[in-house]
Amino acid sequence: MQEDRSVSLLRKKDEIRIGELEVYARHGVFPEETKLGQKFYVNAALCTNTRAAGETDDLSLSVDYGRVCQEIHRFLTDHTYRLLEAAAEHLACHLLVTFAGIDALELEIRKPAAPIPLPVGSVSVCITRGWKRAVISCGSNLGEKEVYLRDAMDKITHDTKCRLLRSADFIVTAPYGGVEQDDFVNGAFVLETLYEPEELLTFLNRLEAEAGRERKVHWGPRTLDLDIVFYEDRVIRTDRLTIPHPDMQNREFVLQPLMQIAPEWVHPVYGKTVAEIWEKLREKL
Ligand code: ATP
Ligand code: CA
Ligand code: CA
Repeated sequence: MQEDRSVSLLRKKDEIRIGELEVYARHGVFPEETKLGQKFYVNAALCTNTRAAGETDDLSLSVDYGRVCQEIHRFLTDHTYRLLEAAAEHLACHLLVTFAGIDALELEIRKPAAPIPLPVGSVSVCITRGWKRAVISCGSNLGEKEVYLRDAMDKITHDTKCRLLRSADFIVTAPYGGVEQDDFVNGAFVLETLYEPEELLTFLNRLEAEAGRERKVHWGPRTLDLDIVFYEDRVIRTDRLTIPHPDMQNREFVLQPLMQIAPEWVHPVYGKTVAEIWEKLREKL
């Protein structure tokens, strides 16, 4: 889990491309499409790092495109979707989860004989999906505090759409925000996820609810609090979600764990690293 200590937003640029893989399958809105089936063609560009395989000439260090083709074929024949959008979405997720070496992919599914009563060459849906990095700050100040935090991280590890990359040591901190309550145990972790930011929040809220979290007093006692500090270099301000977390720069209990796991992460609004933000806060304290 404590691997790859560099926090890099650089995307790996190498690609393995699969062109015009033919699959006979049963996706479509019309009954004859799901009954008789038809030909589909799949194009894929798999973003990966081919350097190690290139240097050593060793297939086990690369993404085996033969296996990827087999998986695409198997997946598209095992399932039936009404929409090409759904077939592409689920197939992309399946490939990203199955092949650890694929960081992102572009996937096109083409239907050359789409039932349209006009002279159309073909229709296709093309999507880009990939693993995204996020930084989560976690805290608990009720009951078995460390157990709540560890349970949450276990559940994240076991969720197919998340990979826990590294986690900070827990620290004990005094409560923040003026409410009289027990000390907190705080931590932080970096994960890779296939969830979009709003979906990630929904997932984390579900983990909080499963830990028996009740929202009574703002900044009051809680069994589990999971805040999204960063999501890639995205800046988001909606009713439900603010990313980066709007108060992270003022919180020792957020920044101290972050210093251990993501000191070089650049705050996309301030243009400063976590280490620089931490220094600035320490000057004020
Ligand atoms: P704070 O966000 O100041 O640490 P809190 O964690 O105690 O306060 P909660 O009651 O846990 O606040 O969350 C209130 C709402 O904040 C959530 O329902 C969620 O919609 C919203 N929210 C906005 N931005 C974020 C974020 N980056 N991470 C988590 N929740 C967020
Ligand atoms: Ca919080
Ligand atoms: Ca919260």
